[in-house]
Amino acid sequence: MTALVIVGHGTRSAAGVDQFAALVDRVRRRAGGSVGDVGGGFIELSRPPLTDAVTALVERGHRSLVALPLVLTAAGHGKGDIPAAMAREQARHPGLTYRYGRPLGPHPLLHTALEARIDAALAGADRADTWVALIGRGSTDPDANAEVAKVARLLWEGRGYAGVEPGFVSLAEPSVPAVLARLRRLGARRIVVAPYFLFAGVLPDRIVAQSQAFAAEHPDLDVRVADLIGDCDALADLVLERHVEALRGDIRMNCDTCAYRVLMPGFADKVGRPQTPHDHPDDPVGGHHHHHHHDGGHHRHHGPGLRPGQVAVVGGGPGPDDLITVRGKAMLDSADVVVADRLAPPGLLAGLRSGVLVIDAAKVPRGPSMAQDAINDALVDHARAGKRVVRLKGGDPYVFGRGHEEVQACAAAGVETVLVPGVSSALAAPALAGVPVTHRGVAHDLTVVSGHLPPGHPQSLVDWVALGRARGTLVLLMAVDTIAKIAAALVEHGRAPDTHVLLVQDAGHPGQRTWVSRLDEVGDLTTREDVRPPAIFVLGPVVALRG
Ligand code: SAH
Repeated sequence: MTALVIVGHGTRSAAGVDQFAALVDRVRRRAGGSVGDVGGGFIELSRPPLTDAVTALVERGHRSLVALPLVLTAAGHGKGDIPAAMAREQARHPGLTYRYGRPLGPHPLLHTALEARIDAALAGADRADTWVALIGRGSTDPDANAEVAKVARLLWEGRGYAGVEPGFVSLAEPSVPAVLARLRRLGARRIVVAPYFLFAGVLPDRIVAQSQAFAAEHPDLDVRVADLIGDCDALADLVLERHVEALRGDIRMNCDTCAYRVLMPGFADKVGRPQTPHDHPDDPVGGHHHHHHHDGGHHRHHGPGLRPGQVAVVGGGPGPDDLITVRGKAMLDSADVVVADRLAPPGLLAGLRSGVLVIDAAKVPRGPSMAQDAINDALVDHARAGKRVVRLKGGDPYVFGRGHEEVQACAAAGVETVLVPGVSSALAAPALAGVPVTHRGVAHDLTVVSGHLPPGHPQSLVDWVALGRARGTLVLLMAVDTIAKIAAALVEHGRAPDTHVLLVQDAGHPGQRTWVSRLDEVGDLTTREDVRPPAIFVLGPVVALRG
């Protein structure tokens, strides 16, 4: 008799992992004797990994499996990642055969479950003046997004809601705030946000946070968030139905309008290509993880450009588009998606191939203080969708650039990264303004400091006393707002008040402005001249070398 292995993606949410495990138990109970055995595992992030689940079934004597992707829509995970993970299992267990099942939705059982979650949120309020925002995960495959739109329509039919509109929490539009704004313009007074998600996770949490933020801004609206589909009998029965279909060889996955099959505007690069899976942390074999040990988490560069599913964190240099490295430019030329910083050289973006998706990191949708998480998610999501992703940063990624946070986030999600250093403004801005940061006989040391936190700030890690006592070159970044306090502290701790200070705003750009001042006057100068970031201060005897 065949065994069933239920394959989840994995999540950072412990509750989500528990719900998955509870569902696997429920499927086992409801299957009775009709299924030989039931196991469950994840392709990444969570335990148990798929490979353990399959090994356990094999050790119990099973050689024939049904593998069911526990996903709602046919997108990258269902079409690429999970089949690839199963192919690795097959290679690991000679003689193992498996049939692959189709994704769960759309299915009437799911629509009924969603309806019940919406009803619970309504708590007796009238359906006829209730609008529903059905929020999908969002995909870089338009066909997967279209499936969410289809489910929204099916959910509307015959259920008496004022209307149901689709929205997406990641990668696709309209976003949660955008769909709520749309419904408000349509005259909605009461909205139920219904996440089209199985289990708890980072993204469902984000739906709640974004809905609450929108509700707080619009007190005239009654916004409620419905529960997730969750572990329930309907879901277990749907899994068993998909299991029976797979046994029959019936895997009608919706691929009719898939971007890999049908030419769609803006997606020409996908047609005819395989859906490219990426490597998974549950995979003990393969060269990638070998590198992790030797290389501290990211990969050596093997040739020009990126492979699908990789993220390059690239230093773009200080501004002019020809101060990027040759390697950084090769990465950009191979990119499908570029996530660009505010300080990334704008000329480089203008020069990209047509069809490259450019995401402005300053505009990534987010709640307060979630900026970096949203950027990390965008990198991981696009890489997992098989894109070549470049994270383009100003200057050098590791000089006050949060580059390593992004590398760590990708590593945690099993996404490969390549780090391409860049020309930091800390060195380039003085040089472009005619000041060498070191010079024989003048300055033999160079210190680069973030001025973001002023002297005395409880979180400051900078030894301002030592910097006041030092004699060499001091370069200050992010110090426009704090320079007066910094200058006062440096003088207090020993720097001469007439120490030369170079100030460079917009170094390398056509509008570059430069001034030379004294340490005890630079604060006033900065205010008087209305200096704006990005700007750099350079202190020390080298400044006098400027011709
Ligand atoms: N990773 C970047 C620094 C990011 S911190 C790098 O290596 O260059 C941001 C700060 O960098 C700005 O506040 C400013 O102090 C400095 N900066 C970046 N680009 C600059 C430019 N073109 N001109 C002057 N300062 C710049």
